[in-house]
This record gives sequence, structure tokens and C-alpha cells, in this order.
Amino acid sequence: MHCNLINGEWRGGQPAIVNRNPSDLDDVVGDYASASAADMRDAVAAARATFPAWSRSTPQQRADILDAAGNEILARKIELGTLLAREEGKTLPEAIGEVARAGQIFKFFAGEALRQQGELLDSVRPGVEVLISREPVGVVGLITPWNFPIAIPAWKSAPALAFGNCVVMKPAELVPGSAWALADILQRAGLPAGVFNLVMGSGRVLGPALLDAGIDALSFTGSQATGERLAADCAARGIKVQLEMGGKNPLLIADDAQLEQAVECAINGAFYSTGQRCTASSRIIVCHGIHDAFVARLAERTAALRVGHALDSASQIGPVASEAQLAGNLSYVDKGLADGASLLCGGERLTLATRGYYQSPALFAGCTPQMAISREEIFGPVAAVLRADDYEHALALANDTPFGLAAGICTQSLALATHFRRHAEAGMVMVNLPTAGVDYHVPFGGRKGSSHGPREQGRYAAEFYTTVKTSYLGL
Ligand code: NAD
Repeated sequence: MHCNLINGEWRGGQPAIVNRNPSDLDDVVGDYASASAADMRDAVAAARATFPAWSRSTPQQRADILDAAGNEILARKIELGTLLAREEGKTLPEAIGEVARAGQIFKFFAGEALRQQGELLDSVRPGVEVLISREPVGVVGLITPWNFPIAIPAWKSAPALAFGNCVVMKPAELVPGSAWALADILQRAGLPAGVFNLVMGSGRVLGPALLDAGIDALSFTGSQATGERLAADCAARGIKVQLEMGGKNPLLIADDAQLEQAVECAINGAFYSTGQRCTASSRIIVCHGIHDAFVARLAERTAALRVGHALDSASQIGPVASEAQLAGNLSYVDKGLADGASLLCGGERLTLATRGYYQSPALFAGCTPQMAISREEIFGPVAAVLRADDYEHALALANDTPFGLAAGICTQSLALATHFRRHAEAGMVMVNLPTAGVDYHVPFGGRKGSSHGPREQGRYAAEFYTTVKTSYLGL
């Protein structure tokens, strides 16, 4: 059994989590220990005890450990990518790409540990200087979702460690394998006991235990419902909090879009990774002039997508991650039909050679902004096409959402692209690119109901994982 990592020791636990392959339910990826609330308290206590020493470690020590972890992740990307594809269900190339990204993130933050920031200023008073410096926040809790089993643990833990924080990480129940592999790598890369703790198991049990144990900051990625509850709980306890939640990301197709490029953006953004990306293009807003040609081509391409086992090189779309997620997707297909949208293709459970959670990608046209499939995050391969009279109408539809993570436009006009970049109410804007697919060295995050708190990733990660100190020096 794969154990929890608490205070540098692998500790067994309660009944195991059986990690099954959603491409083939007969394939057991492994057994993972399910931690108790007491284990969580021990992990936070270990992190607290070791924080004074770790926060005073040299930037070189931290950089060397993160760099070693990054190198090992990159060297093992095919093996770890295979594990990831088996436990989450994204196709092997996507999974290997995700692992490589995790490795690059560690190497980026190895550099950030060395590139410290500070300012020395003259005071407004004579004979005084002001020093502005950054210090680690303390013990940081990380709660991660199932759809990026190694990239999200990496983009939270790498900056946390780089800036001298101690970490307690609670990965999603569905995908403990990649997080466990990361903990193992970090441990062997030389982290002192207690600096990084892995506590696997139920969010409902371990989330409250994490907050009650006395952490200084919480970085959460997951659903809006869980995030909002955690935000209230953190506020009541004075815990610094960062939330990355859902999306209902618009991809706007302007009349002058290059047709094949626009269709490719829609296919990739809506259906790759089985639509299970917070940045997925789940609303495709198409201007009247190009609408019919675009929808016809998109339906043709969607119907031709090959759904299959994540490890089969012929597969373009892997399975849905879980039975519950698949049931949710299919219930949205029913809602779309009941609301009067036209299902152009897909939306059915598929029976393939192995027992898995397979679904054909569903494309709806004729959607109105009020329909559930146009408003609510589905988090699966279900896309809604909305027709717009013109660009202004399309922009209004794009912004008519409680979310604000990513927004995309396909156009050949610099003026439209610039206007959209300025007026899209989203944290990230893509021009002639799918809404999903981001770089690791720049900020990631959204607005409105999608995000709360400072951005993740890139240099901006310092906003969350450090606290600013202003020192006045009498001369
Ligand atoms: P989820 O909210 O169900 O679970 C996320 C994590 O929270 C899991 O580790 C879970 O165990 C834990 N959790 C559950 N209940 C908890 C509680 N009461 N207290 C503390 N922790 C608890 O989300 P999910 O189904 O794993 O992930 C899908 C969601 O994540 C989607 O909404 C998606 O948009 C979002 N997501 C957002 C981003 C982003 O960066 N914006 C990235 C990936 C996924």
C-alpha cells in the first residue's frame, strides 16, 4: 500500500483508497492509505515544528532540492505520464505533457528561490531608510482536484517550498498516485522531515481537520461549491486563502475567423482532456455570418473524434474520470435536450473493449444563454454553441457568465482581437488559440466566480506564498 508522508515517515492508514483506471476498471493502479483527522493534525504539527529551520534554509539549499525534483520528474516523464493516464484517463501524450510541465515548474521555481525580491528606499523622514522584504507565510495547506493530478500539486508546492514555507498537501481522492509519486520524489530530493507532508483521503474529513489544525494559508483548486465553503471557513480563522475554481469559458468565433483554425481551437478547447479542464471552451459563441459553415465543420470534426483507452495511441479522447462525472455529463445532455437545444452529435455512453467511463463528445447548437448547458460548468465533453448577431452581441454573451477564468476569440482582425482582449471579463485571454493550454512561467487565474485571491504560477506566485515586511532603519 502507498502510505501518507507525515514528518518524513511513510505512515499507513485507514482502509485503502483503491485507485482504478477509468479506461479499464479491471486495472487497479494501486492502493493508497486513507488518512484520518488525527493524521492530518500530525502532519500540520510536523510542518509547524520544522518551519523555523526550513524558513531559514538558504536559497541555494531550496533551489538545489527543487531542481533535483524537477530533473527527476523530467527524466521519468514517460513512466509518470503512464501512471497519470492510468489514474485520470487523459491520453498518454497529454499525460506526458502534464508531467513534463510539472518538472519544468520545479525548475522554474528553483530559479525563483534564488531570484529574491526586495527594495531599499529612502524614508520620507531624514536619517531613516526603509527596507521592503518578503518572508514565507508559514504552514501552507494545498488542496488539489483530480483533473491535473501532478501539474496542480506541482504549481502549488514548488513556489510554496521555494519561498521557504512548509506544506501539507491533500490531493483528490480519485488520483492519489501522481501526488504520491511527487511526494516520494521530493522526499528523496532532500527535503528535511516535515517540510512536505502528503495526506491522502476524503476532503470532507481532512479539509476541516486541515483548517482546524492551524495552518497559515490555504491554496485550493476545485469546484466552486467547495471553494466558497472553504473561503468562509478560512475567513473565520484568519487563514490567507487562494481559490481557483470553475469556468464556463467562451470561445468567440468572429465572422472573419479563419475557419479551419477556429474549428481546431474549438475541438481542442472543448474536448481534449475529455473536456475536463477548468479552462475548457464550453461555450462557443459564433457570429451569424460564419455560423452555419463553422457549425457544420465542427460537427463533422466532433463526430470523427476517436474516444478510447488513454494508453491506446489511436485515442484522441480518453474516458471520463469517474462514474459520477459521467452521470453528471449525461444528465446535462438530457437537460440540453429538454431545454430545446439541438444535439448535433455525441452525448452517449460508449461500450468499448475495456470496461470504462467512455462518452462520445456532445455538441449542442441552438443554445440560448439561459439554458443550463450554457450557464453551468459541466466539466466534461459537452459543448454549447450560441449564435450571435454580430461581434458586439457575441462579446455581451461571452461576458454573461458568473465565471471569468479564460476567454478566447478567433479573428483575423487586430482591432477585434484588441477590443476583445480589453473587454473580455476573464483572467486569461487567448487569440486564435484554444482557451485551454497555458504557460507555466506566467500568472494563471481568473475573475468573478472563478478565482479568489492572488494569481498562481510564474513570478506572481510570490504574492500568495510570501508576506511582505517593511522595516524602518534609523541611520
Ligand atoms: P472538488 O471541489 O470536489 O474537490 C477538490 C478538492 O477538494 C479535492 O481534493 C477534494 O477532496 C477536496 N474537498 C472536497 N470537499 C472538501 C471540503 N469540504 N473541505 C476541504 N476539501 C474538500 O473538485 P473536483 O471535482 O476535484 O475538481 C473539479 C473542479 O475543479 C471543477 O469545478 C474545475 O473547474 C475545478 N478546477 C479549477 C481549476 C482552476 O485552476 N481554476 C483547475 C482545475 C480544476
